[in-house]
Amino acid sequence: MRLALKIDVDTHQGLRDGVPRLMRLLRDHQLPATFFIAMGPDNSGRAVMRAFRNPGFLTKMRRTRAVSMYGWRTILSGTLLPARPIALAFPDLLRDLAATFEVGIHGYDHVLWQDHIDDLSDADLRAELAEAAEAYRAIFATSPRSFAAPGWRVSPAAMRALERLGLDYRSDTRGRCPYRCRVDGEVLRTPEIPTTLPTLDEVLGTPELAAAPSLADFYLRRMSEDLLNVHTIHAETEGLAHFDAFAECLATLRARGVEFLRLDQVAAGLHAAELPLAEVVRATLPGRAGWISAQAPDPLQPCSI
Ligand SMILES: [Zn+2]
Repeated sequence: MRLALKIDVDTHQGLRDGVPRLMRLLRDHQLPATFFIAMGPDNSGRAVMRAFRNPGFLTKMRRTRAVSMYGWRTILSGTLLPARPIALAFPDLLRDLAATFEVGIHGYDHVLWQDHIDDLSDADLRAELAEAAEAYRAIFATSPRSFAAPGWRVSPAAMRALERLGLDYRSDTRGRCPYRCRVDGEVLRTPEIPTTLPTLDEVLGTPELAAAPSLADFYLRRMSEDLLNVHTIHAETEGLAHFDAFAECLATLRARGVEFLRLDQVAAGLHAAELPLAEVVRATLPGRAGWISAQAPDPLQPCSI
């Protein structure tokens, strides 16, 4: 079975504390992975304050141990305390990371993109992407080649703005297999490699996970033998409060013969003309608040990769 690990980094604390631990763990196992970094300010406190108004939020806070996972500094960042930079606060760490792993961008202002994508004008969207690319170039002296949308949220306008960057691929949606996005009748050139597995915070506390012999067994049951599996983890979750569980899961997957890949390796092997076409639709997932962007089902466009 083939598995690409996609590691999203949403916050200053996630980059400072979670990424070094994940980097050491993956290096110890000699496993490849792709990190996507939010390049701009850490306004995660705003997301938490907004989330407080959602029904069921406090239950989820308890279920996922959000305070121990994020810490109060992150929860208040951008609200009572000033927003801290994320990527630009740790350029040396990121260059060290990029020596072994693929590093792409996870938006500029993660909270603004995730919460307000439909309020952003075309110019606003282009500005977010330009700021993210500029911060990336300031750190790596090269342009970003990949993008993962904050909160798996895109819009037709955002996808058109992303298309102008000429990236090697995007990983913005949830779905079944790599595809080409059809947006208002136009087929985009940039391949989309969706996340195929549920995230840990979506499944924590579910009877299905509780019934599985281990976290690795839970994921192995969900993985496809034939198609590429893409699993998103978070520096703030698997890198911090759930690090031990993730480390054990990773060791088990490796011992059971799972082949790990980087998303840029996957993208290099894709032939765009052979990829299925799919609309990008809005959907909801068990265990996740609000909508996400998803690969629309289409029986006439079967997966082959
Ligand atoms: Zn994120």
